[in-house]
Order: sequence, then structure tokens, then C-alpha cells
Amino acid sequence: MVRRKKLSKKALLELRSKIALEHIITYFKLALEFSRKGDVKKADYCIRKIRWISKNFGVKIPRLIKYFICRKCKKFILPSKLRVRVRDNREPHLSIRCPRCGAIRRIYFKRKRK
Ligand SMILES: [Zn+2]
Repeated sequence: MVRRKKLSKKALLELRSKIALEHIITYFKLALEFSRKGDVKKADYCIRKIRWISKNFGVKIPRLIKYFICRKCKKFILPSKLRVRVRDNREPHLSIRCPRCGAIRRIYFKRKRK
């Protein structure tokens, strides 16, 4: 018989979120793979899965992955069609445009304060 270490509730929750995060990352890699093959529908499906996992498991989507998900239409922004501009009006920021719905997302750089 294999003796299993009893995990506390907190440790279990941590493990759960860790596994959920791993799933998010694998699904994102899959989405990238599908988009490279030109299978947009499957890539979108992966993104739906990612959002489902983060909602149901209470795990935040990593920032880097969030950049590839459109805020408006919640679809995968294909890296091949990604349009990133660096703009410098008022404050320097990156603007990412979704090729499908045209929504623009702005990412502001953190200002260094002395
Ligand atoms: Zn969009």
C-alpha cells in the first residue's frame, strides 16, 4: 500500500491552483500551435478553455497570455496578425489592436518615481 502524505487544506488549494495554471499554460501553447497551422477555430477553443479554467479555479491568467486575448471579443489574437505600436502621446505605451473586432488595448509602462 502506498502511503500518501496528508495535505492540509491550504496546501491542497495551492496545489489545485498550481495545476490549473499549468493547464492554462499548456492550452496557450496549444493555441499558438493551432494558430501556426492556421486553425483559428481550435485556437479560439483553447482560449475559451483558458478563460473557463481561470473563472472556475480562481486563477489569474498570466499577464503575458492576457496580451493575446482580446478584451472585447474574448478571442485569440493571432501572433501573425498582431499589430503592436509604441506610442508616445501623453504617456509612452504599447497599443495592441485586435484584427478581428478592432479593439485597441493600451499597455502603459510603469513610471519610475524617484
Ligand atoms: Zn477582438
